[in-house]
This record gives sequence, C-alpha cells and structure tokens, in this order.
Amino acid sequence: MGDFIGRKPGKISGESNFKRVIEDFECGLCGTVVKGKGYTNHCPECLWSKHVDVNPGDRADDCEGLMKPKSSLYDRGGNFTIIHECLKCGRTKRVKAAENDNRELLSKLQKSGPLIIE
Ligand SMILES: [Zn+2]
Ligand SMILES: [Zn+2]
Repeated sequence: MGDFIGRKPGKISGESNFKRVIEDFECGLCGTVVKGKGYTNHCPECLWSKHVDVNPGDRADDCEGLMKPKSSLYDRGGNFTIIHECLKCGRTKRVKAAENDNRELLSKLQKSGPLIIE
C-alpha cells in the first residue's frame, strides 16, 4: 500500500514530560494534507491513522501498520474519542478526536460500528 504518512522532520519543543511533535503529513488513503500541530496522528477527513506511537506523540513504535477507525465514543463534554485498530498487529488504541476531524464520520462510527473504506 506504500507509505501511508510521508513524514517530514518535525520540530520538537520540550513541554513537561509530554513530547509534542509538530509535523505535516499527507494521508495515504484520501490524500488530505494534514497540518501537524502536535498530538494529531490521524487524518481529519477519513480518520485513518498509522501505528507509530506507544504513547501519544512519542513515535516510539516501529509497527507502522495502518490503523482503521473502528468506532468512536462520545463523552458528556461533547468530545469524541476514536478507537483505532491496527491492521498489522491487531492492537487497538484510543485517541481523542481533534476539533477539525470529520464530525459526520465520527457520528457514523459511533452508530454503525466499523467503517470500511474501499
Ligand atoms: Zn485521509
Ligand atoms: Zn501495529
């Protein structure tokens, strides 16, 4: 499938014990160019991600499998959490949805379960 996220060297600014990596990437599924502003590791349009983190933002996992948005959760504060499943190693991860994530898809995931993009 090729490289899902073409990463450019990012800037790292030390902020307490949480690594904030600023980087832009292009989504290998839908081609959306995602402006990195730290934390974001998934495409705001199709919500697919790539398995590169052990903890959010650390880029410490070398799995690099594609992560499918399996479902989403909606909390009382009005925030979505996306549950990703890695197609390569099968691990699941939860990530907070970003403000600019595709709300329509997030709601669909919540109602209808797995989203399959052909
Ligand atoms: Zn995408
Ligand atoms: Zn994986």
